[in-house]
Amino acid sequence: MSSSRSGKKHTLKYAHSCSTSPAFPVRCASVGSESCLALPVKEDFADEEDFVKAGGSELSFVQMQQNKDMDHQSKLSDKLPRIVVGDNVLDLVVIGCGPAGLALAAESAKLGLSVGLIGPDLPFTNNYGVWEDEFRDLGLERCIEHVWRDTIVYLDDNAPISVGRAYGRVSRHLLHEELLKRCVESGVSYLSTKVERITEASSGHRLVECEGNIVIPCRLATVASGAASGKLLEYEVGGPRVSVQTAYGIEVEVENNPYDPSLMVFMDYRDFMGDKVECLEAQYPTFLYAMPMSPTKVFFEETCLASKDAMPFELLKNKLMSRLETMGVRIVRTYEEEWSYIPVGGSLPNTEQKNLAFGAAASMVHPATGYSVVRSLSEAPKYASTIANILKQGHARNMLASSGISENISMQAWNALWPLERKRQRAFFLFGLALIVQLDTEGIRTFFHSFFRLPKWMSQGFLGSTLSSGDLLLFALYMFVIAPNDMRKCLINHLISDPTGAIMVKSYLTI
Ligand SMILES: Cc1cc2nc3c(=O)[nH]c(=O)nc-3n(C[C@H](O)[C@H](O)[C@H](O)COP(=O)(O)OP(=O)(O)OC[C@H]3O[C@@H](n4cnc5c(N)ncnc54)[C@H](O)[C@@H]3O)c2cc1C
Repeated sequence: MSSSRSGKKHTLKYAHSCSTSPAFPVRCASVGSESCLALPVKEDFADEEDFVKAGGSELSFVQMQQNKDMDHQSKLSDKLPRIVVGDNVLDLVVIGCGPAGLALAAESAKLGLSVGLIGPDLPFTNNYGVWEDEFRDLGLERCIEHVWRDTIVYLDDNAPISVGRAYGRVSRHLLHEELLKRCVESGVSYLSTKVERITEASSGHRLVECEGNIVIPCRLATVASGAASGKLLEYEVGGPRVSVQTAYGIEVEVENNPYDPSLMVFMDYRDFMGDKVECLEAQYPTFLYAMPMSPTKVFFEETCLASKDAMPFELLKNKLMSRLETMGVRIVRTYEEEWSYIPVGGSLPNTEQKNLAFGAAASMVHPATGYSVVRSLSEAPKYASTIANILKQGHARNMLASSGISENISMQAWNALWPLERKRQRAFFLFGLALIVQLDTEGIRTFFHSFFRLPKWMSQGFLGSTLSSGDLLLFALYMFVIAPNDMRKCLINHLISDPTGAIMVKSYLTI
């Protein structure tokens, strides 16, 4: 049974400080010349889980990542008409202007709905990587700025494993322009502000209450405001605690780049440091994600795949620098730093609530990889058409209001986003995530040795979240057969002892 976690309002104001609070510890950022930044503390978060999703102890770095200057990206407010504030009731308000929000707003407006998009007018600042075929299938190949013909993985000192799949780096500028263009063409209107809460009018309409006392009435509201959306959405209570993938990246000009520029290095788990690395950093298994843009220009990212407590960016940076030094790579110029903080796992939204959600807010991030962009972009058209249908039914129902029908029509949309089949897949991935966070580097190497020996359709489908729940069982069986005895023992123990094992079995048995 699910119940609400939202609505708990915390009242602390901004803290200018190195002060910490016991429930929501906020570390003081020491960045560039600034030794202390003004950090929001409690009032922006629904609860501790929400705070962890927003960045937790790494919040200041997350904010730096979100607030980077991107000169080349258009302002939404320059291209989209302003939402008319007044009595006008919009069909749909989409909250949040990330890839998920922009895609859903455009697709919904294309179906004839009157759609308002609300959120800060910020550029896309993340460097997204995608499997090239997946982006091509979405008709977005022109938004890829660099393609590698193959992707490789190093697990130990042996030859690299070829994934056999081209990888692309998304141009955040082109993707932003493309999704904005789709919003312009379909007639989306826009308001640059933050939403504070969503309430219900006596007429049954949703009232989207924004900063500055602006209230936008609509028939349905969809929250796409990223992972930390606990103030606007209810999440199931008692689900697994969220884990975090952190990665520290640099785009640099180097001497002695050891990587072939035609190949993308998805994971390099080789041990370059041996005893050199400090104990603290050695606690977290990490790998290098490397995109060689040319023989001398490379995007390197030291990545902790998932951890119960986020691996701090400072440790990731130290580890990356020692790794590069040991490899003999000399940095001659730094173009950009990236702080990637991705909450993975955690609870699903409560699917009985009237407000809808999409993207990271709707827990659509793949628990075992941290990816969500392709899933959000590919599911946006279908989800938009579900929303259009339930609004149509709602119209019909309004006419029958006197007959007393008051079914929560939002539930149909929730069921379309999280049908039983998707819940089963997620339970499987959460089981995998709980296994990964327990493994040390050697364990992870052993795991991936088996993973990359699977038939391509299985390993690729797992990474792209396209395997059905039945396929995933086959995947588990196959992994079990080809894994060495130690890993088999580990899998059985994990299934028996970890709560995610029982949850997964239960979800497969639920009809
Ligand atoms: C550095 C980095 C790299 C990543 N790389 C990849 C990758 O390669 N591939 C991949 O699939 N995923 C990647 N991810 C993970 C994830 O897919 C992204 O975080 C993705 O941006 C999520 O999209 P979204 O639209 O759901 O949410 P977001 O992109 O987080 O967008 C949420 C939007 O909502 C706005 N907002 C927040 N609060 C409010 C409010 N109260 N009112 C109105 N608006 C609000 C925010 O300003 C923001 O614009 C990466 C994440 C990071 C941080």
